Amino acid sequence: MADSCPLSGCGWTRYILLAAVGLFLLNYGCGDSCPLRGALPGSDPAEQGEEGAAMRTESEEVQLTDAEWKARLDPRQYRVLRQKGTERAFTGKYHDTKAKGLYKCAGCGTELFSSDAKYDSGCGWPSFHSPVDGRNVAERADRGLGMVRTEVLCSKCGGHLGHVFADGPEPTGLRYCVNSAALELEEEKGE
Ligand code: FE
Repeated sequence: MADSCPLSGCGWTRYILLAAVGLFLLNYGCGDSCPLRGALPGSDPAEQGEEGAAMRTESEEVQLTDAEWKARLDPRQYRVLRQKGTERAFTGKYHDTKAKGLYKCAGCGTELFSSDAKYDSGCGWPSFHSPVDGRNVAERADRGLGMVRTEVLCSKCGGHLGHVFADGPEPTGLRYCVNSAALELEEEKGE
């Protein structure tokens, strides 16, 4: 009954409060499987665009100030990893390396690529058909230089690694084209 409602007599106030509660639940109360997820503009992380993805990439990981990155990396590594630079083709120290081992992020040491996935693409940069663990690399649309490419980053420190293209060999058909400066090879110990 209206008379028993504590908000009785408040008129529009009651409806405004109910609408506010509803909007709050719609935005914050939904899990991934909720059909209402994303019903409001900006409530779906997938709609937050490249900046949102970049923030997620770097939010829970290795975070250093620019000065700290400069102190940790040599100029070549800093330019690639932190400034998205690209080394010239056929100049990087790993573009033709056949040694067995594990390629780690030069910024934070995260394991990125195995030599088992490395192949000679002829492009002048170290090329891999797959990462060691897909969770260790992040991807982001790159519309720079008048092209649409997919940038590959270290998911732990957000460092720029290179780009991934759909012209690789089996088993993935992908080519992770990575700057040598973004990598440190930990060679397998001989028998
Ligand atoms: Fe890293």
